[in-house]
Amino acid sequence: MSQLFDLSLTRVRDLLRSGEVTAEAATAACLERIAATEPALDALLHVAGEAALDQARAMDASGPDASRPLWGVPVTVKDVLATEGLPTTCGSRILENFVPVYDAHCVSRLKEAGAIIIGKANMDEFAMGSSTENSAYKITKNPWDTARVPGGSSGGSAASVAAGQCFASIGTDTGGSIRQPASFCGIVGLKPGYGRVSRRGLVAYGSSLDQAGPMTRTVADAALVLKVIAGHDPKDSTSIDAPVPDYLEAIQGASLKGLRLGLPEQYWGEGLSAEVDAACRRAVDLAASLGAEIVPVSLPHTEYAIATYYILAMAEASSNLARFDGVRYGRRSTKSVDLATMYTRSRCEGFGEEVMRRIMLGTYVLSAGYYDAYYRKAAQVRRLIRQDFLNALGKCDLICGPACPTTAFAIGENTADPLQMYLTDIFTISLNLSGLPGMSLPVGLGRDTGMPVGLQLFAGNLQEAPLLAAAAVLEANLPAMPAPPIA
Ligand code: GLN
Repeated sequence: MSQLFDLSLTRVRDLLRSGEVTAEAATAACLERIAATEPALDALLHVAGEAALDQARAMDASGPDASRPLWGVPVTVKDVLATEGLPTTCGSRILENFVPVYDAHCVSRLKEAGAIIIGKANMDEFAMGSSTENSAYKITKNPWDTARVPGGSSGGSAASVAAGQCFASIGTDTGGSIRQPASFCGIVGLKPGYGRVSRRGLVAYGSSLDQAGPMTRTVADAALVLKVIAGHDPKDSTSIDAPVPDYLEAIQGASLKGLRLGLPEQYWGEGLSAEVDAACRRAVDLAASLGAEIVPVSLPHTEYAIATYYILAMAEASSNLARFDGVRYGRRSTKSVDLATMYTRSRCEGFGEEVMRRIMLGTYVLSAGYYDAYYRKAAQVRRLIRQDFLNALGKCDLICGPACPTTAFAIGENTADPLQMYLTDIFTISLNLSGLPGMSLPVGLGRDTGMPVGLQLFAGNLQEAPLLAAAAVLEANLPAMPAPPIA
């Protein structure tokens, strides 16, 4: 059982339940894997170590509890989710010494289900980025090729899952930060529909877009984790009060027969690299051979998505990040001479360049003179983008396209030009603007770079179950993804 860390979450959960593996053994296997791979990966900002082992031993002492779906399973969570007693930095110097006094809603759900939080995953500062290069602490590397980025902003989560440091991670997705790193690292990443998972304790970036979700090695694992973290939270006013299906049950015996799969023309043309196109088309052909009906659809406002998203996300960020003022949380500058310089210096010392850029642009688009031209217009276009999705979903059951135009790019390749970095989000951001659920499924390796390729699937409101079901059928019929070549 030396390769325990290679197993899927669902498999290890079964072994834990039957007593074949103890919670301590599972935790120790992940901690050993962390020790072996972290020097090359830098995926984690904090490792719970002894505390996690103590917790595992205490659980073993009382024996497996089958009523807890993640009993004894080690997981990591993105450092933007509050964890009681564990540092929560959001990848920012401004929260360097911040230790929350409560758990995010999804973290308490994980704990109630018996999961063991073994680490906090690295991320772009305040989830702003697409490569994890904006972390104030370190740059996470891609387990498939350490010269390349793992994607972002949940790059630490993706790398930790792909490398076997844990059996699942919770990431957050404001404009693609679960799906894009999942695609770059060859794992499954699901962004639930807005409101499906409570945002309480998720440090806000763009409140109308943010959503936490599972990042796992298999579709069944994502189904299991989503069931645990989804559901109504009366303490989040945007949380949806709707029943949560048993997603694991929903994917059993699923079929693609008669499923109408919509291919938006805007996602399959210009700008898409040949290897991503080829790998995604192979998966679509497979779906067709399994009985899916391929339907051409259109998302005509796609070309406005980048501008719309970055205006709205920056506006919301500038407002949300006002709370970090050196008074209430985290870092306070020691160099201040009066109240005004204390605010300014605390923020200037605490925030990185990209965060400051976004606060300034966000403040600008919200300012009295420009509000109508930028913020209001973007809010109107957002509605059109959502309507595109609803129209397309009137003609098909699921929408399908590549998750990203390319496979993982090299570290440093896009850092000189922020706009170039923003453009890489073209296929993921519209979904957040629409509020609908979507996921990235690994469909193989690109023929040119040898790096993982992710196929995206989008579904209608509250349709996470059929989304997962279709992904599970594809996964079962695709060649198995190899493990990344990290020692
Ligand atoms: N790359 C996008 C951004 O920088 C999305 C990030 C995210 O989803 N958190 O805003």
